[in-house]
Amino acid sequence: MRDTEMFKIIEDEENRQRDNVELIASENFVSAEVREAQGSVLTNKYAEGLPGKRYYGGCVNIDRAEQLTKDRAMKLFGAEFVNVQPHSGAQANMAVYNAILQPGDTVMGMNLTSGGHLTHGSPVNFSGKLYHFTEYNVNKETERIDYDELERMAMEIKPKLIVGGASAYPRIIDFKRFGEIAHKCGAYLMIDMAHIAGLVAAGLHPSPIPYADFVTTTTHKTLRGPRGGMIFAKKEYAKKINSSVFPGCQGGPLEHVIAAKGVCLYEAMTPQFKEYMKQTLQNVQVLASIFDEAGIRMVSGGSDNHLILMDVKSSLGMTGKRAEHLLDLAGITVNKNTIPFETEKPFVTSGVRLGTAAMTSRGFKDAEFEQVGHWIVDVLKHDDEDHAAAVKANVVKLTRQFPAEAVL
Ligand code: PLP
Repeated sequence: MRDTEMFKIIEDEENRQRDNVELIASENFVSAEVREAQGSVLTNKYAEGLPGKRYYGGCVNIDRAEQLTKDRAMKLFGAEFVNVQPHSGAQANMAVYNAILQPGDTVMGMNLTSGGHLTHGSPVNFSGKLYHFTEYNVNKETERIDYDELERMAMEIKPKLIVGGASAYPRIIDFKRFGEIAHKCGAYLMIDMAHIAGLVAAGLHPSPIPYADFVTTTTHKTLRGPRGGMIFAKKEYAKKINSSVFPGCQGGPLEHVIAAKGVCLYEAMTPQFKEYMKQTLQNVQVLASIFDEAGIRMVSGGSDNHLILMDVKSSLGMTGKRAEHLLDLAGITVNKNTIPFETEKPFVTSGVRLGTAAMTSRGFKDAEFEQVGHWIVDVLKHDDEDHAAAVKANVVKLTRQFPAEAVL
């Protein structure tokens, strides 16, 4: 009685993932062990509450798994407190807001087109609907966060909370400065490090932990774990955060996912993971120099992290939507993305975001990324669907030489 219909779809997706060059900056390939934990019998168990304090019996092993994950998370990031139960990054952010804000409270967050996330105050998101968000932008010339302007705005607006962190920001973020600004204007500081958590874990991006009251993250981007979220905080906020996650925002935790987060954290503590993150950064530089040479403008002029935001409109006279489509035909997966001070609609956009974390997990190094960079330039410059589709055979030939999961 096997569900052949569904398993055929999953098989098709496995093949798609194996054959394509995956450059979506928020995605990754997990290890076989992370998948094993996530597919384990822990999915069968209800465990509302926290280790040692559950609303259900039979949690003896679940407690051990969740505590181990918490211990590893605090050790890896040097934090005083963590809650590992948020089902996703959006839920982690919601739980922090719910813990410390009242509806209508004033908050500052980065605008979506400057690289912020929907949950940082977008009007179409619960955050923008429930709270009074004032958005800050990157500087128009540098396309980087203007910390002096941020400070000026914060002193004028006096928000209860400042939110830092981003989904499409290619530069190092100065968390120390964020902390100073929040302290000066009497605001809480929440840093959403979802995109760069793996870099922070590897010591390749400054950590927000010493400067922020709350640090949220997803576990499935550069950190290379299962889809999910976590909240770090100063110890004094432990109770507030715990009760905001459950019963405030969620029901039963996904203990199979929490176990997989634990495996991901175990892997992230290894020297191999640090090497992986270093190679991810190096691979971005390989792409950036090829785009530079080809005259393709990158937002802020380049990148310090795992992602690049290409301005295809000003460089090639094409929309992000068109670029995504052409690259899709070639078997290269990217996403169209708004750029600072965007003039196109979110479904059209002037930009394309690409990241190297996923293919680096599969074992791509400088040589492979050099090849990929040239394919991207070739496909975009020709702006022709048949030409793009003809590249695909070479893409498949390359990707099939690499496993479709993280190699440690
Ligand atoms: N925060 C940031 C900075 C993100 O980039 C994302 C996802 O892209 C999220 C939060 C939301 O995470 P999730 O999709 O798990 O809800």
